Amino acid sequence: MKASEIRSKWLAFFESKGHHIEPSASLVPHNDPSLLWINAGMAPLKPYFDGRVIPDNPRITNSQKCIRTNDIENVGKTRRHHTFFEMLGNFSIGDYFKEEVITWAWEFLTDKQWIGFDPSRLSVTVYPEDTEAFEFWNKKIGLPEERIYKLDENFWDIGEGPCGPCTEIFYDRGDKYGDLNDPECWPGGENERFLEVWNLVFSQFNHNKDGSYTPLPNKNIDTGAGLERFASILQDVDSNFDTDLFRPMIDRTCEIANVSYHVNADHDLALKVIADHIRTVAFAVGDGVLPSNEGRGYVIRRLLRRAVRYGKSLGIDRPFLFELTKVVGDVMGMYYPEVVEKREFIERVIRTEEERFHETLSDGLTLLGALVSQVREAGKNEISGEDAFRLYDTYGFPFDLTEDYASENGLTVDRAGFDSAMEAQRERARAARQETGGMNVQGGPLSELTEKSEFVGYSELTTNSKIT
Ligand code: ATP
Ligand code: MG
Ligand code: MG
Ligand code: MG
Repeated sequence: MKASEIRSKWLAFFESKGHHIEPSASLVPHNDPSLLWINAGMAPLKPYFDGRVIPDNPRITNSQKCIRTNDIENVGKTRRHHTFFEMLGNFSIGDYFKEEVITWAWEFLTDKQWIGFDPSRLSVTVYPEDTEAFEFWNKKIGLPEERIYKLDENFWDIGEGPCGPCTEIFYDRGDKYGDLNDPECWPGGENERFLEVWNLVFSQFNHNKDGSYTPLPNKNIDTGAGLERFASILQDVDSNFDTDLFRPMIDRTCEIANVSYHVNADHDLALKVIADHIRTVAFAVGDGVLPSNEGRGYVIRRLLRRAVRYGKSLGIDRPFLFELTKVVGDVMGMYYPEVVEKREFIERVIRTEEERFHETLSDGLTLLGALVSQVREAGKNEISGEDAFRLYDTYGFPFDLTEDYASENGLTVDRAGFDSAMEAQRERARAARQETGGMNVQGGPLSELTEKSEFVGYSELTTNSKIT
């Protein structure tokens, strides 16, 4: 089943249950300074959830463009994470509650008319105190007890605002992906044998400023499911990157680089990262975000540079990402016409940024050349960790590149010094995060809603990325 068909089925299913189909909102939050990016289907609907606005129809469904920068390190390493993805959602604003949402989720997932998963492959997690949800799964749906896992994490709470227990649905991909005797293979574990596909949040409390919880005037339902993950199961492929949503970008990059997919693990990682980042950048630019040195623009700049660096690891030494904009449009344009309508603009922005970065790289090389001479003139044979870090921090030069260049010139680089300069910067970022009041956030579709500080977004990109 093609991804576009899954998306259509989702919307048609919830429409048949009386939902209004809401088009995807922009990736840039509207009137919401607490959020850097729209990161869940519910995020643009917040005014309905907190009662500021009353919707015409209390049942809403959507397929929402989302960006999650906190998953950047996972991209290409797990089978299931992207920085840009589509979250399919259904929402009840004080209308239906647990029983209906669980019943419909099961129907959509297992009925042949919809996506028709084999029911014996499905397991769920519930919040241990949520006996109601347990009973619906067990008695009404008939899911055996041993396939209902109780997890403390299944309470969705952003620190302040609507919150409540959730239940998540996992698809068992089978023995090939891990051993059932290993608890890491169970839902919620690190292993991806059980693929989390859908989170149903029962928002029934308000977490008040003073830390107390009070029942919401109306109980709400907020769910989110990953389109790319459904596609990977329904297309029977190994990862989200092997679905029809990603292969066209991967294949085009293979042509440009003259490499093949599924031959070399390093190449595959690069191809996946590029396919991921170009979607994020193309959509963000399409929504009006331009590369810059702060906030959203900086996230886009880092992602583009990261993709350029991965491109270099495939031997691509010229601007090429801009060419993939068309491919993204071919894949996604049916539902998101903006990527097609704004294609020329997006291409121009990406191309300019790629050209600039290639220049930066050559500026970095000039500086590195000067450093090598200085070190030699001083009668030494090692580039200091601080200098290597400065190249990394200012010019986006990863350590490996500096080290390669140094060794070509008969020098070494002080790795320990580089690591401690990096650690010092992490410390500064941590301190800055504490000052800006980073919260302890539970997982859930809204888990990033408290991402207050723009600094967090790019310090994470800066400090955690091997290639930046
Ligand atoms: P995971 O545990 O796999 O990181 P999550 O628990 O963080 O997922 P939720 O916040 O519950 O995810 O979001 C709802 C759904 O959105 C998930 O069940 C998943 O299908 C999808 N999803 C979440 N994050 C991503 C991502 N980075 N890339 C692709 N799909 C995602
Ligand atoms: Mg999860
Ligand atoms: Mg996550
Ligand atoms: Mg989840």
